[in-house]
Amino acid sequence: MRKLTILGATGSIGHSTLKVVEHNPSEFDIVALVAGTNVDKMRQLCQKWQPKYAVMACEQSARTLSSHIQRLKLPTQVLSGPEAITHVASFDEVDTVMSAIVGAIGLVPTMAAVKAGKRVLLANKEALVMSGKLFMDAVKEYDAELMPVDSEHNAIFQCLPNAIQTSLGGCDLTQHGVQHITLTGSGGPFRYTELSALSQVTPEQAIVHPNWSMGPKISVDSASMMNKGLEYIEAKWLFNTSREQLKVLIHPQSVIHSMVQYKDGSLLAQMGNPDMATPISYTLSYPDRVPAGVPPLDFAQISQLTFLEPDYQRYPCLKLAIDACYEGQHATTALNAANEIAVDSFLSHKLKFTDIAVVNERVAHFICGKSSEADCNSLESIIELDRMARALAVETIKECSA
Ligand code: NDP
Repeated sequence: MRKLTILGATGSIGHSTLKVVEHNPSEFDIVALVAGTNVDKMRQLCQKWQPKYAVMACEQSARTLSSHIQRLKLPTQVLSGPEAITHVASFDEVDTVMSAIVGAIGLVPTMAAVKAGKRVLLANKEALVMSGKLFMDAVKEYDAELMPVDSEHNAIFQCLPNAIQTSLGGCDLTQHGVQHITLTGSGGPFRYTELSALSQVTPEQAIVHPNWSMGPKISVDSASMMNKGLEYIEAKWLFNTSREQLKVLIHPQSVIHSMVQYKDGSLLAQMGNPDMATPISYTLSYPDRVPAGVPPLDFAQISQLTFLEPDYQRYPCLKLAIDACYEGQHATTALNAANEIAVDSFLSHKLKFTDIAVVNERVAHFICGKSSEADCNSLESIIELDRMARALAVETIKECSA
């Protein structure tokens, strides 16, 4: 039986993970659940799953949760704060950690799970974007088992041979006959919106993804295709791709989750209904498979599968991320930080959708002029660069809104 900590248990990925566990009660045991401030949702999860530990981001939320837990006479111990989160991500009682806290805040506990040699199910792509080489080196050094949860990377993982699956980060694609990898993406809700109308789109429109049900930050990132850009950087680190080996293609139906082209002409694609329970169940049960509660594809219902090249005028954030990927770690760390602040501002109606790219570009440009990849050689230096980029993004947003 796998013993699990779920970081980000109250979110969309947390929900899908628990759905898979519910389908396979004899396979998985929930030891610890972690969330930010959503006490109501955590109380419901504690009632249902009775984990040994429930950890909230702050003391106040933990205190409120604790009073519910006592009233309900549940066996769960309530903890709070970053140290407690790191503790349940790395302690001996678990062997598997779902990393699904949203954003840069997920980096430290995810790294702790890696350093404790856990099976790490990586949904929190921001952690890898921020710390690429450092993260992959730690996976190797501490013999952690890294499993990509993102549907695209999970699809690619499924289409690659076992020798690559077991040497993520250090694999040689060419040696295994791979010509290139294609990351597919739906293009989000504004795929066909007039370019001139994009500055007026609202957060409410942006978070309605045409195919996937996700948290607000990743939904906005999907609308701007920054999400595909972050995934591009993630793919580079996971699969050790060169520029020529990594492509992005818009596929509006989200049926093909990504593809691997081999040199003999074979193209392997992983397909399925757009439901995160499928890739999550694969990362939980690998190399076996367990039911995920996802209905099979019905090809009679899918009238067509279509594809188009991304247009950088519509998706400037995608171009920024690809450029940052080849600029270096300082650029991707800065871009990720700026984007988190800009998206947050957009979600609070304080920034136009099109200004997300403006903020990201200005911050990445400034940081690239002031620092270099050598400034990202430790977790502490990366966190410091992230802090600087955030402060700069806040200033840039003030200028944009003035
Ligand atoms: P959600 O916004 O739905 O959930 C975020 C989770 O993080 C919540 O449980 C939230 O708790 C928790 N959280 C936020 N801040 C903190 C904190 N300071 N300490 C501890 N927990 C915190 O996001 P998603 O589930 O959509 O995404 C999670 C991650 O997975 C992201 O990195 C995203 O890019 C990635 N991902 C998501 C996919 C999806 O389909 N949703 C697909 C692929 C990747 P609370 O509810 O209390 O705020």
